[in-house]
Amino acid sequence: MSVEDKTLGPAWTEEERLNALDRYQILGTPQEKEFEDIARMAAQICRAPVSAINFLTADKQWFKAEVGLGLRETPRDVAICSHAILQKDLFIVPDASQDPRFQNNPLVAGDPHLRFYAGALLETPDGLPLGTMCVLDYEPRVFTEEESFALKMLARQVMTQLDLRRALREKERSEERLTLALESSGFVGTWDWDMTNDRVFADPRFVAIFGGEPEWVTSGSTISEYIKAIHPDDLERVTASIKLARKTGEFFQEEYRLVQKDGSIRWIDARGRCQRDEAGRAIRFPGVAVDITDRKRSEQQARELADRLHFMAESMPQKIFTARPDGDVDYFNSRWMEFTGLPFESIRDWGWKQFIHPDDIEENMRRWKEALENNTPYENEHRFRRHDGVYRWHLSRAQPMCNEEGEVLMWIGTNTDIDDQRRSNENLEKIVAERTSRLQASIAELESFSYSISHDMRAPLRSMMGFAELLKADYGGQLDETANHYLDRIRTASGRMDELIQDVLSFSQVSRLGLTLEPVNVDRLVREILESYPHLQGPDVEIVIEEELPCVMAHEAALTQCVSNLLGNAIKFVAPGIKPRVTVRAEKGKGRVKLWVEDNGIGIASHEYEKIFDIFHRLDRQHDGTGIGLAIVKKAAEKMGSTVGLESEVGRGSSFWLDLQQA
Ligand code: ADP
Repeated sequence: MSVEDKTLGPAWTEEERLNALDRYQILGTPQEKEFEDIARMAAQICRAPVSAINFLTADKQWFKAEVGLGLRETPRDVAICSHAILQKDLFIVPDASQDPRFQNNPLVAGDPHLRFYAGALLETPDGLPLGTMCVLDYEPRVFTEEESFALKMLARQVMTQLDLRRALREKERSEERLTLALESSGFVGTWDWDMTNDRVFADPRFVAIFGGEPEWVTSGSTISEYIKAIHPDDLERVTASIKLARKTGEFFQEEYRLVQKDGSIRWIDARGRCQRDEAGRAIRFPGVAVDITDRKRSEQQARELADRLHFMAESMPQKIFTARPDGDVDYFNSRWMEFTGLPFESIRDWGWKQFIHPDDIEENMRRWKEALENNTPYENEHRFRRHDGVYRWHLSRAQPMCNEEGEVLMWIGTNTDIDDQRRSNENLEKIVAERTSRLQASIAELESFSYSISHDMRAPLRSMMGFAELLKADYGGQLDETANHYLDRIRTASGRMDELIQDVLSFSQVSRLGLTLEPVNVDRLVREILESYPHLQGPDVEIVIEEELPCVMAHEAALTQCVSNLLGNAIKFVAPGIKPRVTVRAEKGKGRVKLWVEDNGIGIASHEYEKIFDIFHRLDRQHDGTGIGLAIVKKAAEKMGSTVGLESEVGRGSSFWLDLQQA
């Protein structure tokens, strides 16, 4: 009896032991003859009334087989076996009633009053004890050498059984895995054709795909039975190939179709080699088959797609090409060959360069190379030489086609002949330019005509106004009330007419102004305007200049027109009874000056912002006016390379601005 080494303790942990027990998957399994026999043999050889094959779990001892106990498990704390597993080899308790460790064990102190125990370890190859093969007696006894040897041997037998079961389980699992792997790779199976007796033996899947009966697997079948499943269109080729392989002994490989029982088609790739005996007679023909239906289907789809694309490319009026990622052109559609009059071979790769107009080649190569380097779309307008030597303008484009990783697979490009379009555009531009210059000449003529007419009209108008004044002064008293009223109306109307003529003259003047800009002090200019226009002064108006206004690049007369018109409008368009309040201020930034004229007037709806700058456009008939002022402002601003605009809201005043270049 070996004794536990109290100082060192076992070389394993309980966790490792329990894990090992789990791996054998023995706990809870039904009784099995092999283990029952071993237990019985142990009882017989050791002449013991009780024997057991038991395994120690975390909380109990579980009997895989037992004799004389009638139990399948007990709590672990009554298990003598718990002590046994801490020993090496064999644990023997000659008389438990005399052993302080077991005296009080209920199985010793009470029923069935066990006295003797001998247990051999059930130990894994790496030394982990799972339980014991033990024999027990109701009497104290001595255990002989032979009995010890037999018990240890039987314990090893138990372990052999356990290892065997585990190996079997693992084999089944790896076979399952192998089958799965083979199935997913399309493996159909193997065949072996015994040519002497004409029997083909094959795997179940092979038999099934050839539409054979399950018994063919074991009994075999003739080659002609198998050949029946081959698609009629492939039959001749396959049989010829078999014959050849049989004759020459060369490797056989054929891809062919099998017609299934339900009429569907499957493709297989079959490979084999004919073997001969010493006399050179063909005796066996073994081989393997793989199901390639999916591959064939996608090849077919890819072919159809390529055919469709090719058809599309050929039926287009445009020139089309494809290029490899490095830019070598590997396809031109027929339009290209028609245009150049050359065969594909002489223009492929970079051969197309010879057709580009010498003046366009450099820019074109730069763009194409840049696109190739950066995988970005290419586009260029250039000339291509036709077979008759005539250059025609083309719009060339190419797009890279990339895979999911962003790598270019190929370039697809088009070359569209835009020669006619380009020529008609050029013609159109010429016509437009001619017409514009003719129009400008007539406008200038009209402007000078209207200027001279307006100018000439002022003299007779002045004399009409003068005589009306005289008539009123000298003969007013002699005229009755109606005549006086008519006279007043003549005076007002001619006054308004004079105003209109003056405005038209200013507009024409502004239109005819030269474009020379010079620094203008806006502060001085605004103050001079205020001084020279009496209606902009006085107690009834309030015009404030915020801070000192800057210098701008402008035309003095034009800017005066702008500012005086804006100020005039600002004090004019106010609601009755409201005192006009106007602020003039400047905003500076990025070399520009925004000059603001802000009023507290009636305001302007946003949809009118643009229209009010049109000549003669007026929104309001309650105030006098000609509708020319803002047209003058706009024209003058344009002349100075400046812009004008406003921000306003009805009833909330208006803010007009002029955007000018800072001096
Ligand atoms: P006029 O002042 O002679 O009517 P303008 O060309 O100067 O002509 O202005 C066109 C129209 O724009 C005006 O009739 C008026 O309806 C509107 N307008 C111009 N300035 C203002 C303003 N500051 N506030 C409100 N309405 C304005």
